[in-house]
Amino acid sequence: MPRSYSILALIGDGIAHEIVPEAIKILETVEQVYGLELDIIGPYSFGAKHYVEHDMKEGWDPAITRDLLFDVDCWFKGPVGLPEYLNKLPGPYLPINQRLDMDVYANIRPCRLRSGVKSVLANRKEGEIDYIVLRENTEHMYVRVGGSLARGGVTELAVDNYIQTRKGCERIIKMGYELARTGDYKGKPGAPKDGVKRLTCAAKWGICKGDNLFKSVTEELETQYSDVETDYAWIDTWSYWAIMRPDYYDVVVMPNQYGDIMSDMSGAIQGSMGLAGSINAGDDYCYAEPTHGSAPDIAGQKIANPTSIILSVGMMLNWLGINRNDDRLMKAWDGIDAALDRVLEKGEIRTPDLGGSNKTGEFGDTIAKEILIKE
Ligand code: NAD
Repeated sequence: MPRSYSILALIGDGIAHEIVPEAIKILETVEQVYGLELDIIGPYSFGAKHYVEHDMKEGWDPAITRDLLFDVDCWFKGPVGLPEYLNKLPGPYLPINQRLDMDVYANIRPCRLRSGVKSVLANRKEGEIDYIVLRENTEHMYVRVGGSLARGGVTELAVDNYIQTRKGCERIIKMGYELARTGDYKGKPGAPKDGVKRLTCAAKWGICKGDNLFKSVTEELETQYSDVETDYAWIDTWSYWAIMRPDYYDVVVMPNQYGDIMSDMSGAIQGSMGLAGSINAGDDYCYAEPTHGSAPDIAGQKIANPTSIILSVGMMLNWLGINRNDDRLMKAWDGIDAALDRVLEKGEIRTPDLGGSNKTGEFGDTIAKEILIKE
């Protein structure tokens, strides 16, 4: 079993400055409680504001090297980007295109309605919503294969190519089946409605060739996972069914851009974007980040809900535990998850997105205390 683990922390923009310190607080707490040795590197600033204000024409903070990103055991970041800096960046955020270069092909985004939290969906109770949006992370519309045509200085045409490969489909769909089998990152394995372990393949076959491939690869794999029910939904219809019968879903696998959009919708379904955690995971690397953006509308007020990033780093520890065969890390994730459940259920300390008036730091302190008390 390994020794100590190095974890790089990157800040980002807007509320990242408020929520990243809370994630570090929680990592330091579980380090103490679960006998871990975590070497937290940073946190380094690397958001759009930082770049523009520092006129860093070459791009990133010199401390954040390409090697560092690959050498640490895991890393996490707060959200990046602010509308006013769009197209003004002097360089890229990072010395790598993280999702592609690290080949973190799975974006795991749980949607769980916890006790003490109100969904936007009427009359939905704790435990009735507990699914994962499993977003393919390296293909589809975000591969930046395309271009634009300008005539006389006016952009007249823009093309994005939508890529889907057999390898890309196979590995994400297999991961979907595995997640349905293990119930990892969920409150309970199976769909809340009937307890059935179910993989839903959601895409737009019949129209998009790439989605035809996505569906046919699922059909090929279906027979290898007879313990998991396979379900198919057109992605547009799934957005309807997710609202009408969220309890039917367990793990929902979908191509990249659909997953990006549906996981934001799932933020609302689970009660707030501030509860939406995620990891980007491959076979060798993993990094954590919340599902949401930099929330400029509330940035600087210290009222952002840090649950999203706390869940994200917890999931990251779980990935690391599985990858390095270290139970202590899996237990740390369980401890974080359970502490969040207890604090949300009590409802004494809540940020404004959940109807309370507490500050980001107070919420983080309460979670940290809860992790300590339970041990
Ligand atoms: P957003 O996700 O930042 O905000 C949407 C809504 O959710 C806002 O009302 C916001 O206040 C709320 N919200 C988000 N996180 C919250 C939290 N932790 N607690 C409480 N409320 C929270 O979406 P946006 O405003 O469209 O995007 C803002 C910026 O973020 C844009 O520049 C965008 O490009 C960037 N962005 C970055 C990432 C990323 O780094 N992974 C992802 C999405 C958007």
